[in-house]
Amino acid sequence: MSSTLTHLQCSRPTCGKVLDHTTPRNLCPECHGPLLARYDLDAARRTLTREALATRPASMWRYREVLPPAPPVSLGEGMTPLVRANRLAHQIGIDRLYIKDEGQNPTASFKARGLSAAVTMAKALGIDTIALPTAGNAGGAAAAYAARAGLHCVVAMPSDTPGAIVLECRAFGADVRLIDGLISDCGAFIAQQAPTHGWYEVSTLKEPYRIEGKKTMGYELWEDFEGALPDVIVYPTGGGVGLIGMWKAFEELEAMGLTGSKRPRMIAAQAAGCAPIVRAFDRRAPAAEAWPDAATVAAGLRVPKPLGDFLILADLYASGGQAVAVDDGALMAACREMARLEGILAAPEGGAGLAAIQQLVARGQIGRGESVVLFNTGSGYKYLEAWQAALAG
Ligand SMILES: *Cc1c(COP(=O)(O)O)cnc(C)c1O
Repeated sequence: MSSTLTHLQCSRPTCGKVLDHTTPRNLCPECHGPLLARYDLDAARRTLTREALATRPASMWRYREVLPPAPPVSLGEGMTPLVRANRLAHQIGIDRLYIKDEGQNPTASFKARGLSAAVTMAKALGIDTIALPTAGNAGGAAAAYAARAGLHCVVAMPSDTPGAIVLECRAFGADVRLIDGLISDCGAFIAQQAPTHGWYEVSTLKEPYRIEGKKTMGYELWEDFEGALPDVIVYPTGGGVGLIGMWKAFEELEAMGLTGSKRPRMIAAQAAGCAPIVRAFDRRAPAAEAWPDAATVAAGLRVPKPLGDFLILADLYASGGQAVAVDDGALMAACREMARLEGILAAPEGGAGLAAIQQLVARGQIGRGESVVLFNTGSGYKYLEAWQAALAG
């Protein structure tokens, strides 16, 4: 009943290099692809059953067979509610809409899952200082889990990041660097400084365990749907870690014989002001091109060129999914509807997911009878500037 992690493996199909997990690692030393954690799933399936899970604590660490092997640095992340949204569903014209409310995680976003896993392994491997670029919530979560683990944390973020996020990072004792630019500029800063200062980079997909934390959203849906999966999952996509992670979870569940081969259609929702995945998807391209002058109120979606673009796109194609862009006016209007009809104050990113559903239903690409899960990836309470503007307008 413990972790069955066996090794790390390069995610590029053309490389696939195998590496041990007992030293801190970033990208593949051969091809610079992201590394993925691999498990002995034959061993895992012997204890990871729905019956066993029923007796375990309500945290993402309940899936310990398929998570990193170390004492969890935890604040109670995961096991967020799946809220049936009937009033919203009725208004949109579908029968079954659910909101997975990730705003209820520690530090008020699903970044808590990934950073709980990453900080757990960093601590176990003897790291002293973690460092990352962030569009927002990842910084807050990293700072919180670093504080809890007694590690130092350096966060580089755009100077126009929502105020509450800058504040929480400082409160958690992180070394906050505000940069005039985008997450890509922050990433260049961290990559340049890390070797000199001995910082360990926990940037999205440059670190192998954030995705392991985020994949637990897929395991939770499988439990929420009592061993089945929904027809459609709508995911506000920036770096795409959760989307790649959930697809990995479904692969693992199938390999363990815990689900069949039927998978949800994965929908990536992006902001019209930064939609590299949508553009690549429309061209059926295998990778994205950097989006120039990225701008949107949905800070978490302001990722001009995701490192894992090829993985996001491969999963969208494999699932028969879609990529949809919505403008800031539409995503904040959708936020207001979610608040008014369901009592959930969503992050703008969650609004983007809802606006994408509205578009797909209108185009007949989501059927009335399908079960649809919308990820509200963060809480609106950290985006007071955006909410103030939306309510004033
Ligand atoms: C980071 C973030 C996203 C994007 O998540 P990825 O897994 O990197 O695509 C979406 N919404 C919120 C609120 C975020 O903080």
